[in-house]
Amino acid sequence: MPRLTQAELANLNHNFEERTPQELISWAAVTFENRIAGLSAMQRSGNVISHMISQLNLNIPILFVDTGVMFQETLETRDRIASEYGLTVRTLAPEKTMAEQTEEHGVLYLSPDGQEKCCHMRKVVPLQKVAGEYSGIVSSLRRADGGKRAHNPILTIDIDMNVLRINPLANFSDEQMDEYVKEHNIITNPLHDQGYATVGCNRCTTPVMPGEPKRAGRWRHLGPWSMYCGINPTDVNDPTHNYIELSQDEIDRIFGIKNDFMI
Ligand code: SF4
Repeated sequence: MPRLTQAELANLNHNFEERTPQELISWAAVTFENRIAGLSAMQRSGNVISHMISQLNLNIPILFVDTGVMFQETLETRDRIASEYGLTVRTLAPEKTMAEQTEEHGVLYLSPDGQEKCCHMRKVVPLQKVAGEYSGIVSSLRRADGGKRAHNPILTIDIDMNVLRINPLANFSDEQMDEYVKEHNIITNPLHDQGYATVGCNRCTTPVMPGEPKRAGRWRHLGPWSMYCGINPTDVNDPTHNYIELSQDEIDRIFGIKNDFMI
């Protein structure tokens, strides 16, 4: 199978810095046709991406991983995104309930090693199960969120899922985000108004205090605050020396060789 490396994307990534998120989403839709999906945790940035997909009238399904221990507010946000934005939201779930997992492994999320295992079983594996169905995934990572994401490129190879990740909001600032949410009255997870800067599982997410980093509320009981679940591989891997395998047609489309979609 033809290979695609992160280094080969350097020029495209450079050029894409000047493009709007909507242009990038349209590019992804044309490039990957029916092998593209969005990925959302039903937080603000994921909801902005969903709104843009809806406004562009694109048939891109949204993947949502329901770990079985999500806040009710998050599940209600998912249902609103599907009904009000007219999108197909595909909910992915782990094999075992949290109760079954706890019976087998104990309360994993209480230790750093256990957290890694728990996130892997409840978040990463359910997503990886659909990997073969897609060649591109539109994610919503922003550099403004800092930490490992501060230098995230727009296009990143995801070696775990063997897909190209497209982050149309990579260079969207906090101000641009606030403006977009306000202007379009974006559906937001009500927990954001209760001090939750980011929202994950109800076992491992707390509100943040004024002045704390955005991710301070995630795995607060474990500390330090820079932990990630692994569902976005660039949070935990360095893709520089790796590659993904796509069809030659898809690679040609990525580089604009076979189609004349220029942005
Ligand atoms: S965030 Fe916590 S409860 Fe959720 S999958 Fe990770 S460790 Fe488990």
